[in-house]
Order: sequence, then structure tokens, then C-alpha cells
Amino acid sequence: MKLYEYQAKEILHKYNINVPKGEAATNVDEVAKIYSKSGAKKCVIKAQVLAGGRGKGGGVKIVETLDEAKAFASKLIGSCLITAQTGKKGIQVNRVLVAEAIDIKKELYLAISIDRSTSKITIMSSTEGGTEIEEVSAKAPHKILKEQINPLLGIRNFQAHQIALNLGLAGSLATKGSSLIKNLFKIFIEKDCSLLEINPLVLTPDNEIVVLDIKMDIDDNAIFRQKELLETKEITDVSRAEKMASEAGLSYIGLDGNIGCLVNGAGLAMATMDIIKLYGGTPANFLDVGGDAPIEKVTTAFEIIFTDPHVAGVLVNIFGGIMKCDIVAEGIIHAIKKVDIKVPLVVRLEGTNVEIARKKLDDPKLNIIFADSMKDASEKIIKAVNNKK
Ligand code: ADP
Ligand code: MG
Repeated sequence: MKLYEYQAKEILHKYNINVPKGEAATNVDEVAKIYSKSGAKKCVIKAQVLAGGRGKGGGVKIVETLDEAKAFASKLIGSCLITAQTGKKGIQVNRVLVAEAIDIKKELYLAISIDRSTSKITIMSSTEGGTEIEEVSAKAPHKILKEQINPLLGIRNFQAHQIALNLGLAGSLATKGSSLIKNLFKIFIEKDCSLLEINPLVLTPDNEIVVLDIKMDIDDNAIFRQKELLETKEITDVSRAEKMASEAGLSYIGLDGNIGCLVNGAGLAMATMDIIKLYGGTPANFLDVGGDAPIEKVTTAFEIIFTDPHVAGVLVNIFGGIMKCDIVAEGIIHAIKKVDIKVPLVVRLEGTNVEIARKKLDDPKLNIIFADSMKDASEKIIKAVNNKK
């Protein structure tokens, strides 16, 4: 589960970490109030979306007057922000953070994540923080240093100190930096993070160290013990779909395309996405209904697919093994009645009880397009979606 910048900063603040004073707002009036209340001459207004690259994408601006704050907020709130990390569709901005603008002497990079190859928590640091970090990572990876943390010992003082030195902090700043690093590591453990990325971490002209931007991901497997975080979670389209999916025991990942996929088994789901691509279409999601798919589960799967307004057609690809095709067929019939599907639906079923399933689905009222192979199915759904345009 990803947290919004303003939510992550609230957590940091509770751990006594320096973050710019600020509040989140959902409309221009709130922005105006926060700006006026702050008394600061310069404020920054930042789109709160679960993606980075906002600075370059036009989602972050320093404002110096109330009128400027209002004008930028009214342009940003409700708009669709496209950044290098959002995909072409962009993400709608429903909330902005209004925070004091900080004078920056140097932008640094600091991130804590889990290195899957060593199964250890790794702290990455670089003196080259800011909006160009992806370029640094591609062109000068030696400028990003990695420190592995022993899971049994946790972070050692010398390691925190070394990371602070790597960040170019010296003397009393190195002490400040190393206690910040230890504190962040504590948050990483206590909040069950899978990622905590600070970019930029800034050094101010009066030698304060401030967290200007943060990305924080919580491990979904540990969410049951992070109840207060779950409650603060805001429901976005994507997270609403993900939440519905996890409650129903389905695996769902939203993607950029317009062909919804409902498949059983992760391997077949991947193969389905591949074949859609191969024939020139783009999948709107990965959705694995799993090994069993009772009627309610299939219906929920359709509901989840249609939380994405871009879905222009659905491809159902089921291989009945333990799960019998006729049961899936009943699920499809139930879902069609409940969800009121208005887009083309292509169904390819194969395996146990496939004949019974076909008979059940062979009703003109259901308006199903049948396919008898993966190739046939992907060609038919792509054609149907293109015809609709
Ligand atoms: P993103 O990583 O999504 O582009 P950031 O929060 O990192 O968004 O903002 C981009 C840039 O905007 C930062 O590198 C920094 O230079 C500037 N910035 C962000 N927040 C502030 C702030 N509170 N005060 C001054 N500058 C800021
Ligand atoms: Mg950033």
C-alpha cells in the first residue's frame, strides 16, 4: 500500500523528523486558508498523487502570493497529471499539499528498500538528489552507494555514520544525519515498509536537514498490524479496485490499456496479456481469479474490471482443471445480469465440462462472442474494441 506524501510526512513528523510545515487541501478555499494561515511568504503547492516525477510534470510549484496560490490550485485540483511515472492516462489530482517553501543549499538522495537478491534491507544514498536521480542511476550508478543491513543486528552506528558521510555531511551535520538515518530505519521496521524513498533530502543554508519529498510503501502482507494506516488510507480508483480484489481473494493489477482480462491462473493471465499485445491490443489489467471461482467471485471480478473507465471490452480466458468450466459459465451469466456489461465480451473456455459451459452461455441475450483459441480470442476482442471506436 502506497501512502501519499502528506500522509508519510505526518508519520515522519511524529518521529520528530524535520518536514516542511504543511497541510493537505481538496479545494481552492482550503488552499487559500492554509496559505494565509501559514504566514510564509513563499509556499509550495504539490499534487498528491501516487507517482513521482511531479516536479517535471507540472505538479509542483512555488507560489509567492495568495492569488498565485489560488490560481495554481484551481488549475491543478481536478486536472489529470501526467508524469514519467503515471503512464499516458495520467492520474487525477484530488488533493494538494500546501507547505512552506524551503531554501535549498543541496539536494540529496536517501532510500531504504529491500534488496531481493540478498534478502536484506538496503540503504541507498547519493549526493546527487533531486529530479534527475533516474538519470544518475542510469548514467552514473557509482554515484549511488548501497549499504546492506544485517537483519539480526539492525543498523549499526558506524553504518549510519558512513551513510551520512556518503551524503557529504561532515562534523556536527554528520551526527545529525546519522541520527536521522537511524530514525528512518526505525520507521521502516515499525511501519512494515517495503520502500521509504526521500528525494530530495535537503540541506538548507542554515544547515538544517529537511525531508522535502517522500515515497512510502507499506508491505501488504503486514497491513493487518498497521491498522491506523489502513484507516487513513484514501480510496482512489486504483486502490479501490485493489482493495475489492484483496477482499475477494483475487489478484488484480491495473494497467494502461483498454481490454479487461479475466483469467484463471497467473501464468495464463500473463500469457493472455502477451497475446493481446502480440495482436496489437493493450490489456487494461492483470486479473487472476485463482484456482476456484464461485459465482460471487466471478461477479466481483467483473465489477473490479469495470472500476476502470477505460475498459472498452473484456476477454475471459479460462482453462478448467479443478475449476469446472460450467461453474465459471454460471458466474459469467450472473455477472452479466448484475453488472450490466455494455462492452463486447469475448469468452474462451477450455477443459473440464467445457461442452456444458458452452451450452449455458449460448444464449443470444448474453451477447457473448465465443473464441476457441487464445489467438482467436485476442483477435476477436481487439476487432470488437476497434469497431466500437
Ligand atoms: P517529484 O519527486 O514528484 O518531482 P518533489 O516533491 O521531489 O516531487 O518536488 C520536485 C522538486 O520541487 C524538488 O526536487 C524540489 O527542488 C522542489 N520542492 C519540493 N518541495 C519543496 C519545498 N517544500 N520547498 C522548496 N522546494 C521544494
Ligand atoms: Mg521527489
